[in-house]
Amino acid sequence: MRPGFDLDGKRVLVVGLARTGLVSALFSAAYGAKVTATDERPIPEVAEAAEKLRVAGVKLELGGFVPQTFLEQDLIVVSPGVPAKIEPLENARAKGIPVWSEIELAWRFLRGKLVAITGSNGKTTTTSLVAHILKTSNVPTLIGGNIGTPLLALVETSVDTSVTVAEISSFQLETIDSFRPEIGVLLNLTPDHLDRHITFEEYAGAKMRIFENQLEKDIALLNADDPEVTRRMPAKPKIFWFSRQKRVATGAFLRDNQIIFRHEGSEVELARLADIQLRGQHNVENVLASCAAAYLAGAVPAAIAAGVKSFRGVEHRLEFVAELSGVQYYNDSKATNVDAAVKAVEAFPGPLVVILGGRDKGGPYAPLRELLHERARLALLIGESAEKIAADLGDAVPFENAGTLQQALHIAARHVQAGDTVLLAPACSSFDQFENYEHRGRVFKELVTQMQSATATEKG
Ligand code: ADP
Repeated sequence: MRPGFDLDGKRVLVVGLARTGLVSALFSAAYGAKVTATDERPIPEVAEAAEKLRVAGVKLELGGFVPQTFLEQDLIVVSPGVPAKIEPLENARAKGIPVWSEIELAWRFLRGKLVAITGSNGKTTTTSLVAHILKTSNVPTLIGGNIGTPLLALVETSVDTSVTVAEISSFQLETIDSFRPEIGVLLNLTPDHLDRHITFEEYAGAKMRIFENQLEKDIALLNADDPEVTRRMPAKPKIFWFSRQKRVATGAFLRDNQIIFRHEGSEVELARLADIQLRGQHNVENVLASCAAAYLAGAVPAAIAAGVKSFRGVEHRLEFVAELSGVQYYNDSKATNVDAAVKAVEAFPGPLVVILGGRDKGGPYAPLRELLHERARLALLIGESAEKIAADLGDAVPFENAGTLQQALHIAARHVQAGDTVLLAPACSSFDQFENYEHRGRVFKELVTQMQSATATEKG
């Protein structure tokens, strides 16, 4: 049984009113708390949430934080978009007021088993695939967390036999207290979000908190091929591994094009490499992790193979858009950091035209140099980070500063030859020119579709 939390009559402050904050405030109010919701944004920007909250009897403090309010609470629930260390939160902590992320509160109420997935890259793909496999195996499955539906919104539908598969970000883990998944998965650790977490150690430390409260009976599933992961093994839980490169004694690995799971000397085949419909070696890692996690959570081998076979991937992740005059266009707008962009480029033998750039996240672009030198005909740079990328790439690959996606596609069209691939893999976040990476991906796809209709018209 989870510890729960008695919200009845408690003073609860919800900080940040995006989707997660809204659900947190409504949930707390429904459980009898006296809820205040605050956001730095003024009313017009949060109008829709504000109206729902008003109806639920939630007090609103919008257009800025009131420091005193933070000190007069029994609990503060902080949204993942709000930095955990801002002064009003630190002052509340100093007074002994618990400051939790929504996943902490949700975990206390969720019924059934929790599979929590974190890492620098591959979280959404893996979370989606684990849930897909479990559903294929007829396990009552819920999916949420950072992937869309906040975990609190799943509480009502969860039952003792449910498995909740949750994508968990480092921001959410920064403010947990007792959060304890029965199965915790760490996919990889590479530099990301160094703009907010400051040091890699701090960032890795936040990710490792997924295992912090686990007991001996719980499971940690770890990437045996990532040295940053292997040198940080958690002490308490049972350790299982997944590996693309070696045959692990406990966990999932590859042998003769099969995905094998080994535990206490006995082996079972979970799927075949040929079942995987996704491009790239990084997706083999995601599939290995997903097969192992789903198996550990109760999926049966036949359903695991069927689930892997019928999974087509997630939008904006190496998504095929169209083929125009023998040139293929791929949207990997979700490659918002350098490692993800490296993995995307590695998924294509070339020749490539790669569109890079956006808002810089603080890490170097040099890891792309050699790959682009080998595989890319041209790099087209967009957005704020164009100059920094150009400096980091040096003379490794011909590049042009295109400014915008539209311009990048125009220039690409002049250089491509049949057999090429045009790949959007920005290595940066999107907030300089777009609302988010989904918006950037949709714009890319629309522009490609327009080129497609223009070509069709010309031909017609
Ligand atoms: P996340 O949710 O962690 O951001 P996604 O599944 O959405 O992960 O994938 C984000 C991007 O990261 C993809 O576009 C892909 O290029 C890259 N990627 C996916 N899986 C991996 C992996 N296991 N290792 C490295 N990069 C990956």
